[in-house]
Amino acid sequence: MSKIYLKEEHLLLQKMVRDFSNQELKPIAQEIDKKSQFPHESIKKISDLGLMGIPWPQEYGGGGMDNQSLVIAIEEMAKVCVSTAVTVMAHTSLGTGPFAAFGNESQKNFYLRKLSSGEMIGAFGLTEPNAGSDAGNTQTKAILDGDKYIVNGQKVFCTNAGYAGVIIFTAQIIENGKNKGIGALFVDAGTKGLKLGSPENKMGWKGSDTRSVYFDQMEISSDNILGAPDKGFKQFLKTLTGGRITIAALSLGICEAAYQAALNYSNERTAFGKKINEFQSIAFKLSDMATQIEAARHLVYHAAWLKDRDESIIKEAAMAKLFTSELAMKITTEAIQIHGGFGYIREYNVERFFRDSKILEIGEGTSEVQRIIIAREILKSLNY
Ligand SMILES: Cc1cc2nc3c(=O)[nH]c(=O)nc-3n(C[C@H](O)[C@H](O)[C@H](O)COP(=O)(O)OP(=O)(O)OC[C@H]3O[C@@H](n4cnc5c(N)ncnc54)[C@H](O)[C@@H]3O)c2cc1C
Repeated sequence: MSKIYLKEEHLLLQKMVRDFSNQELKPIAQEIDKKSQFPHESIKKISDLGLMGIPWPQEYGGGGMDNQSLVIAIEEMAKVCVSTAVTVMAHTSLGTGPFAAFGNESQKNFYLRKLSSGEMIGAFGLTEPNAGSDAGNTQTKAILDGDKYIVNGQKVFCTNAGYAGVIIFTAQIIENGKNKGIGALFVDAGTKGLKLGSPENKMGWKGSDTRSVYFDQMEISSDNILGAPDKGFKQFLKTLTGGRITIAALSLGICEAAYQAALNYSNERTAFGKKINEFQSIAFKLSDMATQIEAARHLVYHAAWLKDRDESIIKEAAMAKLFTSELAMKITTEAIQIHGGFGYIREYNVERFFRDSKILEIGEGTSEVQRIIIAREILKSLNY
């Protein structure tokens, strides 16, 4: 399959990110998880390698590579440190993507450049206390007052917010007393009226920064808007659709790492005088895991392949996200089972991979939401 989707440049990138991840991320992954520590040093090194802006145009400081390249990089990082992979993924797909897709020339020249180089970290605040799956219920309001917007509201669960130089967020745009719909705005760190909550204490993704963001009479320039005020809802749906491929890549990386750990362990552990992989029940678990991972890889790489050809990815990205995120829960559960009691202990990384997996079925659209999207797409075909 590699030959179908991965060209020479993809294989070179894969090797580079794999070597880097094993040398730099692996030795500190457990520590980052244990201490819930943001991976500052790793992000600096990833920036130095030019991996903070993989798919963005070179003229704005990006890597000029394709979406397949981003998928491969996220997959390789997630194999050893999910927290670091999430930080890069949220920064790239959600915190930078909207500048690349909808920014004007001056926004691209300033923000896209700084974000692509890693000089600035990006975040994306969509979810609110009463608007998660139901994002259309966004309550944050941005009221135009002369040449500025006055913003009030709250975002929850915003990845990277505590370390971001710029936060993109959605709000109802009110101009001349008229509600223009939901728009995408952005605010620089340190702006008066922007307040950050404390980091959330999470089950997994311990090194990734997640917190609430509050807008309290926050003033931003009327230029701090991405695209047209009334196009914001469509824009962020497009951003989320693309983001699903990268979260699927992250899920795929976890599946591969947990499977490999289980395979290796099954070859070392003996019981009743045999290697445990000589028991059919363990060998069949490994067969199922390997088969499902192969299917998952097809879905993820194919969705990226379509995106690189500007084809519709609504159904394919949702399928890739749904399948791989649910698979990550299954595979990490089986990987712990194959490790027996040792799988439940921290030193064996499968326990961490299990904790890092659950959110994959929730973030960037829950499994239920993915099924709604897929159903909508397949039912459309009945109309033809
Ligand atoms: C660690 C972490 C990081 C995150 N990072 C970000 C981020 O960077 N930016 C951001 O904006 N958000 C982020 N989120 C938020 C995440 O995207 C939301 O939690 C997710 O979209 C679900 O929204 P919710 O929590 O409000 O759940 P709800 O929407 O309240 O859903 C609750 C349950 O109801 C189900 N449900 C809801 N509507 C329907 C329906 N129509 N049909 C069937 N079932 C339905 C859901 O599937 C779910 O099972 C993050 C969350 C976490 C935990």
